Amino acid sequence: MLPGSAAMTEKREEIIAQAKKLYIKTGITRNITEALDLYLKNDASADEQISLYITSPEIHRIAATLAQIRPTCDECDSELFLQVHARDPNGKMHATAWACKSCGLVEYSDLTPAEWLEELNNENREQNL
Ligand SMILES: [Zn+2]
Repeated sequence: MLPGSAAMTEKREEIIAQAKKLYIKTGITRNITEALDLYLKNDASADEQISLYITSPEIHRIAATLAQIRPTCDECDSELFLQVHARDPNGKMHATAWACKSCGLVEYSDLTPAEWLEELNNENREQNL
């Protein structure tokens, strides 16, 4: 178990409850995946988006990859953090974004977390040649 994963699971349950309340009970959809997607796009805070995705096996693989190779900021060389479902200042949603916690630089991307995983693994392989 990763540290904090119990809290993450609890958070995830809270998010699912919210998504049900807003999108299933109101009759917008009957599909929980769709309800969660709508919740993520329209209502979730950045923290909630991360907690939801962090419990998926995909994110565990990404976290493991990031532990080995983490992209750095072009501006200040600090480590970048991956955000999922990021909204840019114009209100457009992006599949992912890389954020620098030191200087605030955010690079939006339309690659999915899975595509990033592949990308990072390829880079990692090249560096080890
Ligand atoms: Zn930076």
